[in-house]
Amino acid sequence: MRRPFIAGNWKMHGSRAQNAELIEGLLLGLPGQVPVDIAVCPPNVYLWEVGRLLKDSIVKLGAQSVCAESIGAFTGEASAAMLKDVGCTYVIVGHSERRTIYREDDALVARKFLAAQAQGLIPILCVGETLEEREKGQTTQVVSRQLKAVLDVAAPGALQQAVLAYEPVWAIGTGKNATPEQAQDVHAHIRAEVAARDANIAARLRVLYGGSVKAGNAKEIFAMPDVDGGLIGGASLKADEFLKICAAGQ
Ligand code: PEP
Repeated sequence: MRRPFIAGNWKMHGSRAQNAELIEGLLLGLPGQVPVDIAVCPPNVYLWEVGRLLKDSIVKLGAQSVCAESIGAFTGEASAAMLKDVGCTYVIVGHSERRTIYREDDALVARKFLAAQAQGLIPILCVGETLEEREKGQTTQVVSRQLKAVLDVAAPGALQQAVLAYEPVWAIGTGKNATPEQAQDVHAHIRAEVAARDANIAARLRVLYGGSVKAGNAKEIFAMPDVDGGLIGGASLKADEFLKICAAGQ
């Protein structure tokens, strides 16, 4: 019922030459139709060119963050309208690197979510606990708080046009992925929280797992009933690895 979705978060990696090679490899390896949605999220400076390289392929374009404001004196930022203008379909909001390094709090993440949807972008809302929070038994509490911050300000039904990503902070870029069971537990919790507001939306909502997904572990994680694909960092930078992860999502 839920179409799997695999999104690559390139973070601050790439060059014009590397991007061209990566996209060429992806497009060569993908048949015309696949039973999974696929997106790549390059750094902003490369969005336009990567969008051109993707042309009308099945791979969609996403950005890694968005400004909560719509226009004006916000040096270094890019608005949702600008991301839409250069061809983005998706935008990641609330990635843990934004939350921790750039001190984006729940309220700001919620504003970014709204700004993205106001321009017709599909936000990929990231939630997840730190290692300390997990060890203190606070995982579901943290994830619920992060989710509630958005649901409390978004219009009813906003999650119909959004994707969630559970990304335990301790698993991101560490090589230590959550076990399929750990992921399933939190994904089921997220779906139940959404279902408490709207069961139909919860049933259709795609909840991705992110955190050290590789070709070697993707299939068992994606096989869990509430895991609908993945948000992939490091492993999205190599075409053959990312293609294997996309295949594991089918
Ligand atoms: C991410 O940055 O969203 C991520 C999941 O990274 P990695 O796959 O490298 O852990």
